Amino acid sequence: MSLIQLFKQILPYIKPYKWLIVLALVLTFIGALTAQVNAYVLQYTVNSITELLEQRKPLNEGLYIVAIISIVLLSKELVNVVITFGQKFFGEKIRIMISQDLAQRIVEKILTYRMAFFTADESGSGKLQTRIDQGVSSLTRTVQSFFIDIFPLFTSAIVALIGMFNANFYVGLVGLCIVPIYFFISQKQAGKLKGWRRNIRTYRENKSGGIINILESINVIKSFNRENIEAKKQLELQTALTDTQMRTRRTNFIFDGLKSFTEQIGVVIIIILTAYLVLTGQMLIGAIMLHIMLFNNVTAPIRQLHRIYDDINDALIYAEGFFDIMNADHQKEPSGNYRPEKIRGEFELHNIDFSYPNGTQALFNVNMKIETNKISALVGLSGAGKSTIINLLDKFYEPTRGQILLDGVPLRDYDTHFLRENIGMVLQKNHIFSGSIAENIFYGNVNATREQMEEAAKKAYIHDQIIALPNGYESSALALSGGQQQRIAIARMFLKNPPIIFLDEPTASLDAIATEQIKNSLDAIKKNRTVIIISHSISQIIDSDMIFAMKQGCVVESGTHEEVYRQGGTYKEIFDASARSLNVEKINDTIEENGEIDS
Ligand code: ADP
Repeated sequence: MSLIQLFKQILPYIKPYKWLIVLALVLTFIGALTAQVNAYVLQYTVNSITELLEQRKPLNEGLYIVAIISIVLLSKELVNVVITFGQKFFGEKIRIMISQDLAQRIVEKILTYRMAFFTADESGSGKLQTRIDQGVSSLTRTVQSFFIDIFPLFTSAIVALIGMFNANFYVGLVGLCIVPIYFFISQKQAGKLKGWRRNIRTYRENKSGGIINILESINVIKSFNRENIEAKKQLELQTALTDTQMRTRRTNFIFDGLKSFTEQIGVVIIIILTAYLVLTGQMLIGAIMLHIMLFNNVTAPIRQLHRIYDDINDALIYAEGFFDIMNADHQKEPSGNYRPEKIRGEFELHNIDFSYPNGTQALFNVNMKIETNKISALVGLSGAGKSTIINLLDKFYEPTRGQILLDGVPLRDYDTHFLRENIGMVLQKNHIFSGSIAENIFYGNVNATREQMEEAAKKAYIHDQIIALPNGYESSALALSGGQQQRIAIARMFLKNPPIIFLDEPTASLDAIATEQIKNSLDAIKKNRTVIIISHSISQIIDSDMIFAMKQGCVVESGTHEEVYRQGGTYKEIFDASARSLNVEKINDTIEENGEIDS
């Protein structure tokens, strides 16, 4: 990305603050003028006092001059305080607002992107986050460089240079000649340092990542006695970081020395030149002060130049990745316009093939009919493609081949938001947000009333347990047990009240007691809806009206439990294995010996 492209991209984000920028620039310009006042006052002081000395004037007149100087300098400083405050404050405000807009806009943008964007390898959530963070911070730094660092400094440098030319053409020329030399050195410095700062940042991130890793796997490290290996890994990271830091410092010291030397050459030339002008009677002695101070105002800002070069280089690198994400309009989730009055929930899959964005083909020629208001179970070994079916039905992905119909209309034609309003999902691990229980249930329908929310909790058989908590519905949802969280998710579904429900291993992460406890909630949510359930628990499968057995991306058997079992294939294999693992015979013996099971 070139600098011009970068500015084109960032311009829309700067535009809303154009008046703020104009204000900051005006203040900057006034600031640049006041920055030169000291130089002129000093010239005036030296000249006036020299004159008084020559004329052997009484002390009184000297006091008068000192008073004037003090008043001028103090007034200037007062003005300066206000201006510097305004300039810094508005500059910061521009930076903060633009950073906020960029950060907010990109989040709003990616929320509209399709699932494939998030699951693609190149945008693993860690990578995506890094690209967004680095983009926002480097772009913000560039804006800061321009509005807070470069502009004020350079305006001051230009005003000082004009002052030098105004004092004497040749003095101005010396100032002007030093500038390109400075530029040259700064560019070389930035070139040398290029990437080092970035490397340092990466090393630091790796180091803190490494420490997190140690903390997370401390039991593995200790049980394998691998403390030394871990310490050595950290040492390697630390050494790389230290080496780069030292090299950066060394390079900076060398170049800073070079710049100081160049500046001193300038100072010496100006002193010689001005001394000549004073001695030949073309100027008064105070001119030396004026010239040196103005020259200092010219060189001071350019000392920062290498840092600004480096910032912009960084921004050029990170901005590309950032704007790639920001402008990925082709990743927008597709949506049709079809919004029927009511969805019945009859899905038909015709010859569906599907491959994930990384190329893994998960489904092969799948044909299926999911009947409305019935419970259909997808059964198969892990990786058979069950969750993939649900992903397609919720329009998280589009099939590579074939067609899906919902109530006879292609799923593609449905308004995606509308469709998802009509589908509820309960997953193996439901996302419980940090926040209160009430907030978590309200996520199902943000417009519901308090009564409706509590009613939903009652239907999910969790209300009594919630009100028994010290803070009731205001308790933290994250503090609940796995089974309780699962019921919160079910309560959320009741509040959403969709005609279609997908249950993807809803009890897989629960223990036997919790599984039994949520059975009532699950049975309740299944009533009068189209339900697709993925489960490894035979009890839940047997209850289904229709079973689809899947193997390696294909539907191999389908029908009622008895029908599919009798076919003697994959389903029977899985069912028998589950029954054997339960050790049904022994369970039976125990029950027979001890009578009824308590419930
Ligand atoms: P199941 O739900 O039956 O366990 P899945 O539908 O999750 O199986 O997976 C089917 C196949 O698709 C597996 O080979 C799995 O590795 C692959 N798969 C699942 N999700 C993704 C994904 N996001 N990207 C790439 N491959 C995936």
